[in-house]
Amino acid sequence: MTIIDGKATAAAIRLELKEKVDGLKAVGKDVPGLVTILVGDNAASEVYVKSKIKACSEIGFNSKAEKLSGDISEEKLLALVKKYNDDKTFHGILVQLPLPKHIDEDKVIEAISPAKDVDGFHPISIGNLVIGKDTFVSCTPAGIHELFKRYNIETKGKHVVVVGRSNIVGKPIANIMLQKKDFANSIVTICHSAAKDLSYYTKQADILIAAMGRAEFIKGDMVKDGVVVIDVGINRVEDSSKPRGYSLVGDVAYHEVAPKSSFITPVPGGVGPMTIAMLLQNTYKAFLKINEMN
Ligand code: NDP
Repeated sequence: MTIIDGKATAAAIRLELKEKVDGLKAVGKDVPGLVTILVGDNAASEVYVKSKIKACSEIGFNSKAEKLSGDISEEKLLALVKKYNDDKTFHGILVQLPLPKHIDEDKVIEAISPAKDVDGFHPISIGNLVIGKDTFVSCTPAGIHELFKRYNIETKGKHVVVVGRSNIVGKPIANIMLQKKDFANSIVTICHSAAKDLSYYTKQADILIAAMGRAEFIKGDMVKDGVVVIDVGINRVEDSSKPRGYSLVGDVAYHEVAPKSSFITPVPGGVGPMTIAMLLQNTYKAFLKINEMN
């Protein structure tokens, strides 16, 4: 059994990007830039945005963090997005979700230029993914695909069972794995909460991708021997032995499932660290496209 080390893989990707940026700087070229837009005081969102900005500065990207008051009007937010669509310093625009209730999230996502949609949430990006065109793919599914590549995991003709159908994880990873491309070309099943007997499906999986948000839901008797397990879930469970009073666990009961698997991602340290690495990669890609360098 191989434990997939997302932390080390993400670090390797960041280093590769840093070397590319150093190369650009050495010849006096511009560097990629990412602007993040945060609305309101959601503590978790603030942490996410901080780590994205920090990751940018570590590899030499330009970055800017816009922090707006929670009562900003939709109109003003849309105007700010438009301003950054036209700003040549920034190649990626990330509006941190969720937005306050009085703002229409779809409208804001659709206002981002598809050329700068490094989160891959714009309907044009999603449509391009579905029809197999090169596009920005949302960062967590892109990170999972990158793990298949970097660990040279055979996916062609394999049965991939995705548990979860969210727009940010389940649907895009299912669409990636369906493409007639390297490290994809799989037979894909998508499950959701209406599945009456989930284990009927999970037991058939050569590759199981769990993105449910249900702590340790997938047990050892729900998978077959040799399965590849990608655990996307991040769940807090009470743990009095920890100073903070909780532990993080995935959607998979790791200690039961790991002995049966050929590859498995741990939580934390599996899929999680790949998300920001893919955001940086998408920003670099946007930079190349905008500057017609690829
Ligand atoms: P959502 O809550 O949006 O979606 C969960 C999906 O799981 C839904 O489609 C739901 O079905 C399905 N589901 C829930 N319970 C069951 C069940 N008992 N049987 C079958 N299907 C079920 O979650 P997200 O996709 O946003 O996130 C999933 C998990 O991944 C969360 O733990 C989240 O924290 C984590 N995550 C981690 C990221 C990272 O590593 N960087 C990034 C994004 C998410 P239905 O549609 O019918 O409700």
